[in-house]
Amino acid sequence: MEKSKKTDLQTPEDPIEACAHFSRLIGGDTNLVLHGGGNSSVKASRSDITGQDREAIFVKGSGWDMGSLEVPGLTPLDLPRLKQLLELRELSDVDMMRELSAAKLDPGSPNPSVETLLHAFIPFRAVQHSHADVIVTLTNLAGMNAPDEVVRSIFGDEVIVIPYVMPGFDLAQEVRENWASQFHDGTKGMVLLNHGLFTFGDDSQTAYEMHMQLIGKAEAWLDKEAPVDSRKENALTAEILLTDLARLRSQMSKIAGKPMIVRRHVDDQVADFVQRDDYADLARRGPLTPDHIIRTKRFPMVGASQDSLDRYVKEYGSYVEEFRHRIRTEFTEIDPAPRIVLDPEIGMLTAGFTSKDAQIAADIYHHTIPVLCRSEDHLGGYEALSGEELFDVEYWDLEQAKLLKSGKPPELSGTVSLVTGAASGIGRACAEQLKQLGSAVIGVDLSPEVDQVFAGDDWIGIEADVTKSEEIDEAIKIGVERFGGLDIAVVAAGIFGNSESIEDLDSEEWRRVMSVNVDSVQLLFGRIGPLLALSPIGGRVAVIGSKNVPAPGKGAAAYSASKAALQQLCRVAALEWASNKTRVNLVHPDAVFDTGLWSEELIVERASNYGITPEEYKKRNLLSVEVTSAAVARSAISLCTDDFSTTTGASVPTDGGSDRVI
Ligand SMILES: [Zn+2]
Repeated sequence: MEKSKKTDLQTPEDPIEACAHFSRLIGGDTNLVLHGGGNSSVKASRSDITGQDREAIFVKGSGWDMGSLEVPGLTPLDLPRLKQLLELRELSDVDMMRELSAAKLDPGSPNPSVETLLHAFIPFRAVQHSHADVIVTLTNLAGMNAPDEVVRSIFGDEVIVIPYVMPGFDLAQEVRENWASQFHDGTKGMVLLNHGLFTFGDDSQTAYEMHMQLIGKAEAWLDKEAPVDSRKENALTAEILLTDLARLRSQMSKIAGKPMIVRRHVDDQVADFVQRDDYADLARRGPLTPDHIIRTKRFPMVGASQDSLDRYVKEYGSYVEEFRHRIRTEFTEIDPAPRIVLDPEIGMLTAGFTSKDAQIAADIYHHTIPVLCRSEDHLGGYEALSGEELFDVEYWDLEQAKLLKSGKPPELSGTVSLVTGAASGIGRACAEQLKQLGSAVIGVDLSPEVDQVFAGDDWIGIEADVTKSEEIDEAIKIGVERFGGLDIAVVAAGIFGNSESIEDLDSEEWRRVMSVNVDSVQLLFGRIGPLLALSPIGGRVAVIGSKNVPAPGKGAAAYSASKAALQQLCRVAALEWASNKTRVNLVHPDAVFDTGLWSEELIVERASNYGITPEEYKKRNLLSVEVTSAAVARSAISLCTDDFSTTTGASVPTDGGSDRVI
């Protein structure tokens, strides 16, 4: 989770700053809220442009995480207007969101939380809301005499307890109806069953302190009554076949209708869980809090076989059929592919249309596992909301509106790419463009800095020597387990070698250049061919060749010969792989001076071979254009898009035009 850059040591005096500050303290703990979950508010007056004081409420806006909430993420709204809305008998979610938007006191601020009306109702200035693991543990238990039995036994009447109601207008009304009969001077908070915790006070610090007090009490009770059991040995060390993983991803992607990122998890927590005899049963109990369902679906898929997947898809279809009558308007069907897969040998796989989505699903399930185990082992069993209640959240108008509005994702979203030589020059530029087009990138490079080249969930940089088979195997294993398979490969690692005449060139240097520029690619192709064959979109390979293939240069025997051999290797790959829809193409750049291949010294040397100055040498092409890494990368990556879906075995000059090539 993104950490706030601000120091959170001092309590700000301004009430809005304070709300953001204490929200960050709650949001910084993943045991309390995850990825956009939870919200907070503060009621304060706001002076408008005419100098008039307006009674306002500042509510966390959508798109902001509690853990990194800042003042601009708190939307000011017209509080008296919200109180008028609360007087309505009914209000659809879509109408509610429109009215909330109309009640904003700053049209530029984000849309406020769907729980805004509830915040507006609570008769305290400051409100904090979380989905704390320990609270949802207490409210999703089977075999209770009353749904609030355990909550009451821990907190007595210190908390207001509200039965489960979907967030939105109805929840605000439910709280409004229950408030007077349950609230008293000793009330410290409010537990929403199957959902989470609200606390409140005259200022955000009090609301925060009440939050931590109630959570501390729940924690202490759970530690005593439902201790977390010690770990067994992690048995998820056995190698899995990467092609099995890639095949499963391919099938899931086809079911989803677009490529998915599938990430493998083998940590101790997952290992313990999938080794339980009852894990399959536990996995079918449902999510901790309803808003997780859009990330994890109602259930994980159990087992990783084709049969398991077929069963899962069929079951999802029946679930939608069973409850579709609950939706009155037209709706966008959500694809039936699982987002979590549990298997005793593979561990856990998490899936999404971006690597971030796959990671969010993983974070949520890592918090789900201990709750399931504690409830099952010590508290009489775990029981989530019913199918119809969960369906209502999964197919909620507001979520549906988001689906309709989300627009077209970037062209290569959900795909996985591998780039060699990714730490600098053309390789780095290719990786950057692949990321921009939505691909998750496995960057391989000799440089140990490769892991630092980019940040984010869609990048993994692995230090490896492309000429060493065991290092390449390890890099492919790490990369494929991170993203689930391989769709695109860009070969950019290469060396120029010493600039020497044939007589001076020793065979060791010749071999070194051949080894990096050709042998390593044959090795790589051997390893990735079977993975590319399983790509749900058809494998795509772009290889950085050289102008030296059609037009070799003096003093570059090893380089020119190695790149020519590389081209033949690629053409044979194009022939051999066409049957499984993998395309292989090359670009032939020349004189790309912003790469590690070129030093100032080498430029001087090469220029002197042609009897020209280094400046003339740099601009030596027909179009007189600068051939940059980014320009070459654009051409190479274009070859990996659908723009070139009918092209394989091609060599495209990216050299600014050369009369020796044309
Ligand atoms: Zn909530």
